[in-house]
Amino acid sequence: MKKVYFKTFGCRTNLFDTQVMVSSMQKFELTDVESEADIVIVNSCTVTNSADSSVRSYINTLKDDARVYLTGCGAHTKGEQLFNDNKVFGVFGQSEKAKIDSILENEQRLYEIGDLEFIDDNVVESFAGKSRAFIKIQEGCDFRCSYCIIPFVRGDSRSINEKLILDQISKLAINGFGEIVLTGTNVGSYGKKMGTSIAKLMKKISQIRGVRRIRVGSIEPVQFDDEFKELLDEPWLEKHLHIALQHTSPTMLKIMNRRNKFSDDMKLFEHLHSKGFALGTDFIVGHPGESDEIWKEAMINAKNIPLTHLHAFTYSPRDGTESAKLKNNINGKVSKARLKELNTLIESKNLDFRNSHKVELEVLLEDEKDGIFKGYDQFFNKVVIESDEDLKGNWINIDKYDILGTHNHAKV
Ligand code: SF4
Repeated sequence: MKKVYFKTFGCRTNLFDTQVMVSSMQKFELTDVESEADIVIVNSCTVTNSADSSVRSYINTLKDDARVYLTGCGAHTKGEQLFNDNKVFGVFGQSEKAKIDSILENEQRLYEIGDLEFIDDNVVESFAGKSRAFIKIQEGCDFRCSYCIIPFVRGDSRSINEKLILDQISKLAINGFGEIVLTGTNVGSYGKKMGTSIAKLMKKISQIRGVRRIRVGSIEPVQFDDEFKELLDEPWLEKHLHIALQHTSPTMLKIMNRRNKFSDDMKLFEHLHSKGFALGTDFIVGHPGESDEIWKEAMINAKNIPLTHLHAFTYSPRDGTESAKLKNNINGKVSKARLKELNTLIESKNLDFRNSHKVELEVLLEDEKDGIFKGYDQFFNKVVIESDEDLKGNWINIDKYDILGTHNHAKV
């Protein structure tokens, strides 16, 4: 059997897509050693120009005798060029991934970009080596944020059939996955075109036996409706929500063509904070137009809003987007300094949160090395546990622990 190596770039949606390919592959053998592979499948990301360069550089490092296929978002933006330049043997879109065996069996070069309107009906029953399962519930996005290429490479929002999702989660729960993470390009838009909603879906998932905790990948603030707010006291809902603000300056949000308004974001976050939630966000630093005044205002707002987790990165242009046409770019050093300032602020806010929420922690332990276990609690804070017992994959409750700079620590 020929050996296949998967290289996955980018987000959780790509991780899911790779898992679908691995599960669908019957006639080839999976290897996790790249140098042994006869075939390499590059599941690419194209979110910024530098993501494109990383994929291209990776392809250039591959040995000449391996047959290389490109899939993922980059297939739509760079696939044709890489195919024409003979850098890859084949290119296929995400919609083709379940046909992986027939794609790889084909001895002809192949360019099969697929269908951007495609709806996933692939069911994955297990996620090797992880204690929590990622479930893709929708794909694509109807928003048009000015810096973002995603709607052009993943298409408009469409949702996966509810029954398929529930069946998939039932199987995962039987296989021991107690924590379910709902992912997609814009998960808050789930079901909007089918007369249902993410809140309704989550309620149904919570009724599946074996499901203990539900986490939502990232939700847009404008999608946080009354129906979702009704779930806030449910015991199965993670006490951490990730809400994509992208910025805390009202002017910047307009430049970015975002739908959220900072004044509304503030009210929403205060409400969630009052309910005991830890709150994370995505943040783009150094987008064109982010003047010193705008940055000062953004930092004041970031201090005031109850944030505990941050996924921030410096802006990098993406060809084909509105932002890439803007002229008033921010110097790279300035962007990096701002990123550091913001990260430092949120780290200290996270520490404040942990000091003021000294409650029993419910921890799912995912990794182990030399008797040191690592996992995350219900607030999505990292917990490190020393123990002589084998706790990997277990849920444990701890009420005695030390609060350290970046994580909580306990001996069991
Ligand atoms: S919400 Fe905005 S940033 Fe997120 S995928 Fe849609 S267009 Fe891109």
